Amino acid sequence: MATRPFIVGNWKMHGTRAMLSEARAIDRAAQRLMQVEIALAPPFTLIHPVRREAEQIGVGAQDCHPADGGAHTGDISAAMVADAGAGFVILGHSERREGHGEKDKLIAEKGKAALEAGLKIILCCGESMDKREAGKAIEHVLKQIKASLPAGIEEAGEKLTIAYEPIWAIGSGKAATTEEIAEMHSAIREFLVKTFGEEEGAAVRILYGGSVNADNAAEIVAVDEVNGALVGGASLSAESFMNIVLAVQEVIAN
Ligand code: PEP
Repeated sequence: MATRPFIVGNWKMHGTRAMLSEARAIDRAAQRLMQVEIALAPPFTLIHPVRREAEQIGVGAQDCHPADGGAHTGDISAAMVADAGAGFVILGHSERREGHGEKDKLIAEKGKAALEAGLKIILCCGESMDKREAGKAIEHVLKQIKASLPAGIEEAGEKLTIAYEPIWAIGSGKAATTEEIAEMHSAIREFLVKTFGEEEGAAVRILYGGSVNADNAAEIVAVDEVNGALVGGASLSAESFMNIVLAVQEVIAN
């Protein structure tokens, strides 16, 4: 693993102010584990309180609207999440693609708005089990990334992170195998280098997501071209999340 591993907790639609104690505990532990970059993406309502209380960890949003503002009831713009204290936004998560019908073109527009608001992007991609069984997983994921990238992105290595999350592995308790992860991450890296050039393409971090826990995190982040993890369920308590971070820290130490 060439870069500092990046472990991001996606709280999804979980968390009221009562969960700030978990964020505080994660932040305190993060101050002792500086070899790993740690971030949380809480629901919109907790971005500001988590940012205000946390000193060490990054804080991000789970979505944003492509427009700057206007008549979009219930939506939140990239500038608004930045104003609340977010430093990045997760875009194109399969739960938004499926639950909200989000298509690649819209995700690319959201990405453009996010970059303009000064946010970094974690762009999610991943195949269904049908696509995998049809032998089309890599083709599908690369097509998804290509079509969801914001136009004219510069300094990709700094601003862009890709999260490979096979849909069938999310919340299922069945993570992809290290062979499946290695094959996909290597294809994504090749695509990034071809798209952004040797230096920028190599600097974009590629996270794996899908049923990561403290038992499998070490072997997953040890896979070539895996630069960290996007963690859902296991990020909801400081104990289970930091056990993942500790497992990753051990991989670096060895
Ligand atoms: C996710 O939804 O981003 C995710 C990785 O979920 P889980 O870790 O619960 O599979």
